[in-house]
Amino acid sequence: MGTIFDLRTLFLIGSLAGGICAVTLFASRRIHRASESGLAWAAFAQLLFSLSMLMIALRGIIPDWLSVVLGNTTGPAGMIVLYESIRRICQMPPRPGYAAAAVAGVLLLQVTLGPSLDLFATRLQITSAIQGGYAALMLPLLRRRLPADPHVPMLCAIGLAGFFVGVHLTRLIWIAAWGASATADGQFAAGLMQSTIAATFTLAPMMHAMVLMSLVNGRIAADLRRIATTDELTGLATRRHFFSRVAERIGRDGSPVAVLMLDLDWFKQVNDRYGHKVGDRVLVHFACLLRRALAPGEHAARYGGEEFCALFERATEEQVRSAAQALCDTVRTTPFEQDSLTIPITVSIGVALMREGGSVEELVSIADRRVYLAKAMGRDRVVDRTSARRAAAAGREAASGREMASPPLQSAIV
Ligand code: GH3
Ligand code: MG
Ligand code: MG
Repeated sequence: MGTIFDLRTLFLIGSLAGGICAVTLFASRRIHRASESGLAWAAFAQLLFSLSMLMIALRGIIPDWLSVVLGNTTGPAGMIVLYESIRRICQMPPRPGYAAAAVAGVLLLQVTLGPSLDLFATRLQITSAIQGGYAALMLPLLRRRLPADPHVPMLCAIGLAGFFVGVHLTRLIWIAAWGASATADGQFAAGLMQSTIAATFTLAPMMHAMVLMSLVNGRIAADLRRIATTDELTGLATRRHFFSRVAERIGRDGSPVAVLMLDLDWFKQVNDRYGHKVGDRVLVHFACLLRRALAPGEHAARYGGEEFCALFERATEEQVRSAAQALCDTVRTTPFEQDSLTIPITVSIGVALMREGGSVEELVSIADRRVYLAKAMGRDRVVDRTSARRAAAAGREAASGREMASPPLQSAIV
């Protein structure tokens, strides 16, 4: 079988690529805090691969114990370190001790075998068994993370680990069937299998680095998406995310939709009396009650501070009203409790029906005016279109009689 590639040149290029990838990964380790140690370990793995390819490329030029013994140690060691890096990237408990013990084991084995080139095939088999085995160990780790992580980069990582399992398995089978030999002077026998595998190893650093970087970038994108769409304290949606969901919903036909604005009553007093930390826990408690009140397909968000909003999809206006009233009652009868502390809370709710406004902003502003009205009417209540009209009529009556309605009642009515 003729030579396809010049193996020494291939390994030298692979070594250079490994070095460049090691520097790149190490320099990028800070772009994502949760992946930092994984990237640092990946950089170390690339450095070991790079050294391995360099020492193998220099066979015959440098002493054999360097080229053969250390060259065949640093390659498998790179894979062991890469496995530790994948553990960290997959947020599994780190096991640096296991990695160090495995590397020491490989070194001991290679030192025991010595620099003799008679064992050329055996060495290749040992290298493939270790590297293929560690690539196989990565598969269940990556698969476990697949549902939680950005899907496509995770699939690429699984594909790459699977590819290297295949490469090493092929080499093991090939050597078992047809053997492998060095040239008479102890250099590489550049047959088809050796050439193809050497070419694969040359490309490996770039493949590893690209997959790792796309995994980490996918994570950063997912983190940013989560930060933009989820309120940190309560876990509800952010206002921006809520608005885009309501806008989406308004664009669709279907069952009646209502926007609710909810404002906790006298919340400043909770902070003043118990402190902001307790105030925060009360907000989380309220968010739980709000979340529980949602039917499937409905959404709630923290509008800001102690103000929340929700999207209710109920069959009729009456059902929206009674769901909002039920939530108001639940909040009143479910005080925040912690140790010996009990803090009763109430909420004022304004409801706007979908047909009352053409845009999310309009609906939110109608619901907001009704919250203002609910506050003016004494808090701890729901104000929807019907009750707003009733209040308006009562206000006009009062204005035409002896008493003047309070200004908030008049100005807040839609
Ligand atoms: P009203 O019944 O009129 O709504 O009275 P209120 O005290 O609830 O309203 P006000 O607007 O006077 O006070 C709102 C308070 O909410 C003031 C602020 O300290 C508190 N607040 C806003 N955001 C947070 C938060 O994230 N955590 C805590 N603990 N308090 C917050
Ligand atoms: Mg408020
Ligand atoms: Mg309030």
